[in-house]
Amino acid sequence: AQHFLARGRQHESLGAYLDTDEAVTLAQAREADARIARGDAAPLLGVPLAHKDIFVTKDFATTAGSKMLEGYRSPFDATVVARLAQAGVVTLGKLNCDEFAMGSSNENSAYKPVRNPWDVTRIPGGSSGGSAAAVAARLAPASTGTDTGGSIRQPASFCGITGIKPTYGRASRYGMIAFASSLDQAGVMARSAQDCALLMSTVCAPDPDRDSTSLDVPAEDFTKSLDASIAGLRIGIPKEFFGEGLSADVRGAIDAALKQYEKLGAKLVEVSLPRTELAIPVYYIIAPAEASSNLSRFDGVKFGHRAKQYADLLDMYKKTRAEGFGDEVKRRIMIGTYVLSHGYYDAYYLQAQKIRRMIADDFQQAFKQCDVIAGPVAPTVAWKLGEHGNDPLADYLADIFTLPGSLAGLPGMSIPCGFGDANMPVGIQLLGNYFAEGKLLNAAHRFQ
Ligand code: GLN
Repeated sequence: AQHFLARGRQHESLGAYLDTDEAVTLAQAREADARIARGDAAPLLGVPLAHKDIFVTKDFATTAGSKMLEGYRSPFDATVVARLAQAGVVTLGKLNCDEFAMGSSNENSAYKPVRNPWDVTRIPGGSSGGSAAAVAARLAPASTGTDTGGSIRQPASFCGITGIKPTYGRASRYGMIAFASSLDQAGVMARSAQDCALLMSTVCAPDPDRDSTSLDVPAEDFTKSLDASIAGLRIGIPKEFFGEGLSADVRGAIDAALKQYEKLGAKLVEVSLPRTELAIPVYYIIAPAEASSNLSRFDGVKFGHRAKQYADLLDMYKKTRAEGFGDEVKRRIMIGTYVLSHGYYDAYYLQAQKIRRMIADDFQQAFKQCDVIAGPVAPTVAWKLGEHGNDPLADYLADIFTLPGSLAGLPGMSIPCGFGDANMPVGIQLLGNYFAEGKLLNAAHRFQ
């Protein structure tokens, strides 16, 4: 823990951390030492880890990357945080992210951008940018992240690390500050699939009393299946993931990875996900709709920021929200409120929900022909800080390959598979059917 805290201080300019507290971390480390001395041999005991600042924590401030929650301290720990703590994990601090997890570059953090450790003039990806950069720069051996539309997979790819998002409902959302509740899912990021498997075995467990969408699927020891042979594994290659939008350098790295999979005995089969392009408009209706509802709790009354001066209650709401939220959050609240409003609900939200179902059905068709699906995580390598300027659409379009799996609620991961333009890392995305996390981790581990 001391080593990683020191590295964190040395590399503060990466912007990965939003809050650290050496005294808290070292107290947890001593507690882990005491458990070890008592003969406890839990696999995660004493392992340092840092949490995305979207998980609420008692011992550290929680901001969700927003001014709205500046200095906020939760009275309780998120279930994911509590489970890892019980397993003996030592918390290094809270990691920077896009405000309320809305973004693909971490430039939407209200506090500071995160820099990609491979090239500090580039973005680390988002919204779990701090989580990816911290692991890539060895400021932490592992981190937690959340993935609503790609926020674990895409930064993992851009920073050359391994990240996995479980099936929707497998990890508890209790204490994860809500963005789009039907999509939000906790997951983990680390250097290898093996490390992810250890963490996932603790993170994925039912939480029926605290998360109503938690699934009654028992915890699993994902490390057991890591070494299984993947000879004969059918890998589906969705042809829509390899069209014009994919840059040549990323394509080269993915093609090479697929060849490697063939050498390992896997069989490549072409599959089709015909509604891939629709995932962008569908997601950017559903996610803002849910966000506009979820973020209504930040009204200056219950917690977080409150405007200093106001005329009456309505004025207090307006000023508080105008001051507390950043541009991207406001944009999504406006879009979400619009698509949910009377007269537009049927035209946008309801249509989006129907197409979401069709996207999920397309995956079920594809999984009749294959065991896992593989493709790019993002169309390009990490772009330069500021490159997308004030063009939110440029960010949205770059989510094309991660959104379909999120809309379907499928487990997905990104594993490093090579380098693209400017020697930046490229990840290959693996998507599995519901509850196939073990299969994904196995396929990733055999590759690594
Ligand atoms: N980039 C997507 C968005 O901005 C996904 C974010 C996420 O997964 N949290 O909504």
